[in-house]
Amino acid sequence: MCPRPCIGRKVRGRPLSYYFKPSGIPSKHLKETILNHDEFEAVRLIDFQEISQEKASKKMGVSQPTLSRILKSARKKLSEAIIKGKAIKIQGGNLKMPMQRGRGLGQGRNPGGRMGGPLAAGPGGKCKCPKCGYKETQIRGQPCMNKKCPKCGTQMTRE
Ligand SMILES: [Zn+2]
Repeated sequence: MCPRPCIGRKVRGRPLSYYFKPSGIPSKHLKETILNHDEFEAVRLIDFQEISQEKASKKMGVSQPTLSRILKSARKKLSEAIIKGKAIKIQGGNLKMPMQRGRGLGQGRNPGGRMGGPLAAGPGGKCKCPKCGYKETQIRGQPCMNKKCPKCGTQMTRE
């Protein structure tokens, strides 16, 4: 679907709407045709702005044959949508969408924190004897309260 010169393709125009729906067709009967961003851009530059294919291919960073293939595909889809009453959805292609920035940041980081909350043993925790001050590295999964100070026998606490 995406041969060699994928990187560096620039699609500058952004659709005002990403979805076009014919009126009068109940959505359960509605079929959609998907126009990718390269196709959108090809139509925008060549058909709408009436730029030559040569210039448009340079703007988009693709070869002319590639562009004309993209354009052909786009026109086919658009005509199909108009003739068959399909919705048009614009998505895909190589456009990087900056509006998605920020979403997903911090997600998947387990917002609830570690299991057991702040009092649970993390790695590197220490147990301390409240009486004599003896300290010992806590063993994971073993609460300090279950331990007794080896020096004085007092129940230890988490430092
Ligand atoms: Zn002690």
